[in-house]
Amino acid sequence: MEYKILKKEKMYCSICDKEHEVELRESDSILEIKGEQIKYKEIYYCCTNIEKNNCFTINNMMGENILRAKDNYRKKHNLLTSKEIKEIRNFFELTQAEFSIILGLGEITITRYETKQIQDTSIDKLIKYVRDNPIVLLDYLEDKKDKFSKERYSQIKETIKNKIKNNSYSDNFKIQLLKYKYVEFDKKNDENGNCILDINKLNNIVAYIVYKMNSLSITLKKVVLMKLLWYIDAKSFKEYNKSITGLVYVHEQFGALPIGHDEILSLPSIKVEKITLEEDHYQYNIDLNKDYKIKHIDNKESKIIDEVINKFKNYRSSEISEYMHKEDAYKETLLCQIIPFSLTKTLREF
Ligand SMILES: [Zn+2]
Repeated sequence: MEYKILKKEKMYCSICDKEHEVELRESDSILEIKGEQIKYKEIYYCCTNIEKNNCFTINNMMGENILRAKDNYRKKHNLLTSKEIKEIRNFFELTQAEFSIILGLGEITITRYETKQIQDTSIDKLIKYVRDNPIVLLDYLEDKKDKFSKERYSQIKETIKNKIKNNSYSDNFKIQLLKYKYVEFDKKNDENGNCILDINKLNNIVAYIVYKMNSLSITLKKVVLMKLLWYIDAKSFKEYNKSITGLVYVHEQFGALPIGHDEILSLPSIKVEKITLEEDHYQYNIDLNKDYKIKHIDNKESKIIDEVINKFKNYRSSEISEYMHKEDAYKETLLCQIIPFSLTKTLREF
């Protein structure tokens, strides 16, 4: 059997009944879950003093292995893993029993999901729903108010309220916010370039831009990405009367900026590194999330994106700003005004 040695450590070996150095190993294994053969990485200790039947487990290792297999089943079926459920609960600073009660489940239900049992699809949706909409969790808490002491009830309420106020939501919640911000732009018009924002498509387009920049060995910064997005949409509108992403752009001091630009950084295809330059000034470096696979992009669209990247690849953010300041779309709009796409018809050729 193939295996990987994770580490060697001195401990009590139950094979030869004495303390010595043993290997912690990991190997591919299969467990049947709900009638499916699920692959997972099994961990166990191994005594190297003996040739055969030399593997053993300690404490909760068996449980850990079963959990690994179950989490793989969950990933395969797009369900939250036990760790993710725990993270969501911890994010709201709730105990397992409290989280269960607020969700209207039996008191030990969440404990089971964090340790052994695979949750039903409906419960999975419920947990994701409160993760993405903490205001709903507040509502649920209100319904279950009587189940908590007065003190604990106000504590929980304050915690959830603070999470909402301090913008410390999960990335998923920021994506919900992005949807909220675009709820009024649900008709094709001059503001969105005859295109309604599709988050999945935006996610893929942004990934493609990051990928292209990476292949040129350029670190993409947030300020540059936002300007590239405008040029991509503007050029597409100029040529085909339709923007690519459906983002709506506002005239800001340093150029066009899409509504929801902060939330865009929470797109699942990318990861963002925040670097402090000086007090209150940050630079956001964007990289591709390694787990993300770029989906096919329409040839017309990829041609435009490539042309825009090619034009601006060696521009610094301030240079793109300067260039943009000479466009009619910028000259003919005022600070904080939405830039209508019709003004991109005179976009300078490149
Ligand atoms: Zn031994």
